Amino acid sequence: MANAPEFIIDGLKATVEGKEILKGLNIKIKGGEVHAIMGPNGTGKSTLASTIMGHPKYEVTEGSISLNGEDVLEMAVDERARAGLFLAMQYPSEITGVTNADFLRSAINARRGEGNEISLIKFIRQMEGKMKELEMNPEFMHRYLNEGFSGGEKKRNEILQMMLLDPSIVILDEIDSGLDIDALRIVATGVNAMRSEDRGFLIITHYQRLLNYIKPDFVHVMMQGRIVKSGGPELAERLENEGYDWIKEELGIVDETVGQDEGEFKVPMNTTAPKY
Ligand code: ADP
Ligand code: MG
Repeated sequence: MANAPEFIIDGLKATVEGKEILKGLNIKIKGGEVHAIMGPNGTGKSTLASTIMGHPKYEVTEGSISLNGEDVLEMAVDERARAGLFLAMQYPSEITGVTNADFLRSAINARRGEGNEISLIKFIRQMEGKMKELEMNPEFMHRYLNEGFSGGEKKRNEILQMMLLDPSIVILDEIDSGLDIDALRIVATGVNAMRSEDRGFLIITHYQRLLNYIKPDFVHVMMQGRIVKSGGPELAERLENEGYDWIKEELGIVDETVGQDEGEFKVPMNTTAPKY
């Protein structure tokens, strides 16, 4: 399909405050595909998400990221959003003084570009419609961005942003954390409604539970700042039943977190992660 995006990360290494966190990560996401990255805490999942979006704290030292053949690493943060990358953050920020509606309208207009701004009436109609789908109270439109929102309300608000921005690559970082089962179902319904050939998803999650509601095509396990194992949905089911220890045993990993002394790594540093 002409519009199907292709997002490729190749050999990505990144540091935070001089410490290497991502250690050679490969993934390829095409339109229509849902990829899940699973992994214990501290393995570099959120670092990956922030690095893709161009957070200034994360410095890419090696490798490449491209979207439809264009070099993402060359793009400023706003250009990445405009190019179609979207991240729902694990810990969304609160911004006093900016209402949710103002924020969303600016974000939509930034994505649409100058001369192509959405009309106020159309924006309100769209926002109201999507808020209804997400069973959000209409008052959240005029509240300051995320201020005083509960964990679950913040997560729904992230999904609202995704729905309105119509991105081509969606990254959801632990969207399930802080959600009770009803909210999880609503969020998953919103995500599933957005699945299409024009859009690819990268769903980062600690728990398999979310994947009961959003069925992934590919499942990757992240440890020590790279993907150490990939498979289909059956991999997530095995993790649900058996946890992560069997992977550590299989690969001879003692400590799955990053930031350890290199001597503690049991997987050779030049291991090439599977390419998809
Ligand atoms: P995960 O999302 O898998 O739990 P993170 O990417 O949040 O893992 O963290 C991986 C490692 O990177 C941790 O050791 C964490 O302390 C470190 N790290 C991530 N972001 C920062 C940051 N902004 N400043 C310092 N260290 C960071
Ligand atoms: Mg995280």
